Amino acid sequence: MTAQPPSISTTATAPGTGTLVDGTLADLLQAVRACRVCAAHLPHGPRPVLQAGAGARILIVGQAPGARVHANGVPWADASGDRLRAWMGVDETPFHDPERIALIPMGLCYPGRGASGDLPPRPECAPLWMDALLAKLPRIELTLLVGLHAQRRFLGKLRQRTLTDTLRSWQHYAPTFFPLPHPSPRNTPWIQAHPWIEHDLLPALRLRVHALLER
Ligand code: SF4
Repeated sequence: MTAQPPSISTTATAPGTGTLVDGTLADLLQAVRACRVCAAHLPHGPRPVLQAGAGARILIVGQAPGARVHANGVPWADASGDRLRAWMGVDETPFHDPERIALIPMGLCYPGRGASGDLPPRPECAPLWMDALLAKLPRIELTLLVGLHAQRRFLGKLRQRTLTDTLRSWQHYAPTFFPLPHPSPRNTPWIQAHPWIEHDLLPALRLRVHALLER
């Protein structure tokens, strides 16, 4: 069974302005970066952090920026990003080229910290922006689903009962989707306890990534 990409719409309304964003990807990114819809819930204020170019063949859907990415404004410029790039077998150059790789988390702004780490992505965000962004990325052939929130959004009912079961079933979703655990250093013990991630899933991911980047 191969998972299909979700249906997508072609327009978006710029929150707070009532303006229909039906132009270029640059127009949409400008509207996204001006978004303030859930500012009242963001303890550090809005700062949408994403990367996208119309030529991208690979999309990485993460959870939400952490404190370091909120401060530097560069997606995945933190320890989690270092590990994700190692998993993919790529360095900073292709990773941060928006015409090769799009980086769009489920929540575009840092949600702040809760009792047990960073809070989940703001629930308003993906319903507002994800479909509109996907509609401007027609060449995506591979989507990395990093963490539970991205897997819920993109796999829907095809997701397994637990995140572990979904990852174990990665061959059901490949080559269109690759579900991954979050690469945060906090997850290191869990990742080490599931060595098939390193031995089976990641080599297949690297092959797929390099096949697309080398085209
Ligand atoms: S998290 Fe999303 S919805 Fe909230 S202000 Fe940032 S871009 Fe807008």
